[in-house]
Amino acid sequence: MSRVGQLVATNKSALQKYMSIDVPDADKTKAMYVWIDGSGENLRAKTRTLDFVPRSPAELPVWNFDGSSTGQAEGSNSDVYLYPKVIYPDPFRRKHDKLVLCETFKYDKTPHETNLRHTCAKVMKQVESQKPWFGMEQEYTLLDLDLHPFGWPKNGFPGPQGPYYCGVGASKVYGRDVVESHYRACLYSGVMIAGTNAEVMPSQWEFQVGPCEGIQMGDDLWVGRFLLHRTAEDFGIVISMDPKPIPGDWNGAGCHTNYSTRAMREDNGIVEIEAAIKKLATVHDEHIKCYDPKGGSDNARRLTGQHETSAITDFSAGVANRGASIRIPRQVAEDGKGYLEDRRPSSNCDPYAVTEIICRTTCL
Ligand code: ADP
Ligand code: MN
Ligand code: MN
Ligand code: MN
Repeated sequence: MSRVGQLVATNKSALQKYMSIDVPDADKTKAMYVWIDGSGENLRAKTRTLDFVPRSPAELPVWNFDGSSTGQAEGSNSDVYLYPKVIYPDPFRRKHDKLVLCETFKYDKTPHETNLRHTCAKVMKQVESQKPWFGMEQEYTLLDLDLHPFGWPKNGFPGPQGPYYCGVGASKVYGRDVVESHYRACLYSGVMIAGTNAEVMPSQWEFQVGPCEGIQMGDDLWVGRFLLHRTAEDFGIVISMDPKPIPGDWNGAGCHTNYSTRAMREDNGIVEIEAAIKKLATVHDEHIKCYDPKGGSDNARRLTGQHETSAITDFSAGVANRGASIRIPRQVAEDGKGYLEDRRPSSNCDPYAVTEIICRTTCL
């Protein structure tokens, strides 16, 4: 994020005049196609009018965009295809308007290098009978348009961490309006949002998505992120998914990934959980490469061994240990079944990459 902006607010009552225009053909649908761009982190979207209400992605036309403007193609051969994959109700336009989550394909009809959904969907199909469930905890930071944390003094820092996590009150939490609005947008769209909380660093928040089975984890988290950026836009607030937005004695942002198979959820499933952790221990470096969009270098700023993280070079696991790579929640140890928490993925991870490698390592 390079732009240092100012709030260019338009007149919202002028907007109302146009939003209340009666549109004659009530069957026309605005379909906003959404995709992941060449950064592997940012989202793009554009809209087309349809003369029907789509019921399944197969009814939707394949579309394309200028990949040279998204870091996904050269100018001389710039068309990248959009293949519709999942339809969500659009909470911004409502009625029967839709958000359409897409995969990107190249001119030769092969998946684009930045399309990590394609192989994830294949692996999820292969391991379908093991019923893999995920719950991801998306941490993020609210920024002003000058890219300074929202609500922080402009020439200094807020008081040290301590009172902010799950805080309440004007001096403890900043920007709750965005969080509440986003929550409703997710519920309207059918994104499996599980909850929200204020985080350890002021202006840092979390929303959880899950439990979701298979490919739905990546789909719902990406759409949840889209809804967050889009909601915050209305408030003149920027969302940062940077894993360590403020260096120093401030917590970073992760995307803890809670995971279970059917066997882990059944009685004495703890044996399965421990077997999975044994496998994960042997491929730590391979996982770290998949846990942020820069092959580990982004996450290296966060996984220092401080601030409730494990060091990026070490693998560890423990019951209720928030300084470990993998945590077994206390309740899971007591019940002898449940799930594990992989605390390594970065806030800006691609959930398709994360869930795919977890299943490859533990299920195949
Ligand atoms: P933490 O205590 O680490 O902050 P959270 O409450 O933020 O945990 O998130 C826990 C996540 O785990 C939720 O998204 C929830 O849906 C998910 N979850 C719960 N049970 C399971 C399970 N059996 N398998 C996978 N994910 C699960
Ligand atoms: Mn959490
Ligand atoms: Mn958290
Ligand atoms: Mn967690």
